[in-house]
Amino acid sequence: MKLPHISRDRHGKQKFNLLFSLLGLLIVVEALTVFAVLASQQYAADRALHEHSHELLQNVVDETRENAVAYLQQAQDSVALAAGVFEAKLLSGDEPGRLETYFLEQLRVLPQVDALYFGDTRGNFVFSKRNDQNGEPGFLTKFIRNTEPQETRVTRVYRNFGFTELSREYDPKDEYDPRLRPWFKNARNSDDEVWTDPYIFYTSQLPGLTVARAVRNTQGHLIGVMGADIELAALSEFLQTQRVGPSGAAFIVYSNGDVLAHPDAAVLAQQDDPNNQRMKRLEDLDEITAHAGTRLMERFPDLMALRQTHFDDFEIESKRYLSMFVPLLNRGNNLWVMGVYAPEDEMAHTIREGQRESIYLGVAMSLLSITAAILIALLVMRPIYALQRQAREDPLTGLYNRRSFDEVSGKKLANATRNGQPISAIMIDIDSFKAINDQYGHGIGDEVLLAVSRRLFRGLSDDDLLSRHGGEEFAVLLPDASLDHCMVVAERLRQQVDESPIKTSAGSLDVTISLGVAELVNGEGIGELLDRADKRLLLAKRRGRNCVVGAETHV
Ligand code: GH3
Ligand code: MG
Ligand code: MG
Repeated sequence: MKLPHISRDRHGKQKFNLLFSLLGLLIVVEALTVFAVLASQQYAADRALHEHSHELLQNVVDETRENAVAYLQQAQDSVALAAGVFEAKLLSGDEPGRLETYFLEQLRVLPQVDALYFGDTRGNFVFSKRNDQNGEPGFLTKFIRNTEPQETRVTRVYRNFGFTELSREYDPKDEYDPRLRPWFKNARNSDDEVWTDPYIFYTSQLPGLTVARAVRNTQGHLIGVMGADIELAALSEFLQTQRVGPSGAAFIVYSNGDVLAHPDAAVLAQQDDPNNQRMKRLEDLDEITAHAGTRLMERFPDLMALRQTHFDDFEIESKRYLSMFVPLLNRGNNLWVMGVYAPEDEMAHTIREGQRESIYLGVAMSLLSITAAILIALLVMRPIYALQRQAREDPLTGLYNRRSFDEVSGKKLANATRNGQPISAIMIDIDSFKAINDQYGHGIGDEVLLAVSRRLFRGLSDDDLLSRHGGEEFAVLLPDASLDHCMVVAERLRQQVDESPIKTSAGSLDVTISLGVAELVNGEGIGELLDRADKRLLLAKRRGRNCVVGAETHV
């Protein structure tokens, strides 16, 4: 049997106060942390935007560069290989049939190369190119034999993908002379591969580039020039696959300002009038590309001066765009420049998404750490609370012990003095308790102690302090109570113990208490007040026990 902890409520309040202030502090710290993170994110957003878009665009640039290099390399390699084969005398301009077969074999395995051809110093020419017929892949070869009569000088042979001849025609009006073409002229004076500027191909009327290389005999005399064409449409098709956000785009521009590739491949050739077809320039393209291009050209009138990535931003119809220009690759003393643009808000969108994610994450982490902190605090605090309670409470009855009673009553005394209110104390002692112990044993004595403390507690109000002061003695402090009032309370307590026998495991026992009452006088401490009450308790004993004494006069 144990008294439900009488003073627990008051201790509990303290416990929760402590917990709540800890919690409050924690929440404030967490809130400050989240706020600080948000603020610093806001601050870094601008820089992050540029870094992010740079990274995004850089990926597109890297992929495109890789693709373009592979693209050009294939053409260059095929020309170098053919020139080597010529020089080893495995091929010759005098055997146009064998030359054609070699070209067709090459075209079949080199998807990037659109045409292969050889023109010699006498104006003879073998030119093989891909040529789809009715949706079927095939080839077309143009032969020019300057030794033939005019009617049969130029022959066109159409073949399917297995090289079987489908048809053949003669074109007496074709006056093409390879020796007059720029690729021939440029390459004859060089020992290296020579790249032309992009131009519109004579046969296909599509824009492209030619790489050419001189073929010489062992004495170093020019035999002819070997050439390979690559059409730029495939590069544009590749750019279409490169996503630059939902509405951004990438394009490649040549150092002379001609557009080499743009997702809209169909627009690469510009027909100003029926006789003049030329490469498009950036300013001929869509409004945004044109704007970005104009700004680039203003900044770099000579594109060769563009040595590193150039960032720009501009506004069209109150929409902001970010753009970036990168030197992509050098070919034949010329530069390919890649440009990329995208609306700023599309770039920022990803960042804002990231920002939102980290806010959610931050809040979730905060909640998690607050919960964890509370749990840890409770776990850590539990033994501390238990110790604190042990230090404060009497283990048998759960009442304040003498030490904590003195502590709390000190405050109450100070309050009463400050507010000019009376305050009184009662000392209580169980009568002839030793006899109970002696007769029934210590265990029964404990049961009596517990029962008495319950009866006393029931007779007091919330503001009153009750403690087990030692052995079978109790002390009570009654705030805002004069001596008279306190006498009434003490009498009630006496009756509550006396009115019915206490039930114990050894049967019902008649128990009485004696009480001494005193009111605080000015300048007194709790010790002196209790001493005076104790003296009156002694008087009560002397008067025969089971009574209350509130004055020292008559014994
Ligand atoms: P009086 O009426 O004069 O107060 O007589 P009394 O027998 O109560 O007085 P006394 O102070 O001589 O006896 C008090 C006894 O209380 C002595 C001690 O053994 C007993 N006591 C003190 N603390 C406890 C306790 O925690 N449990 C029990 N069972 N007995 C205790
Ligand atoms: Mg006693
Ligand atoms: Mg005693």
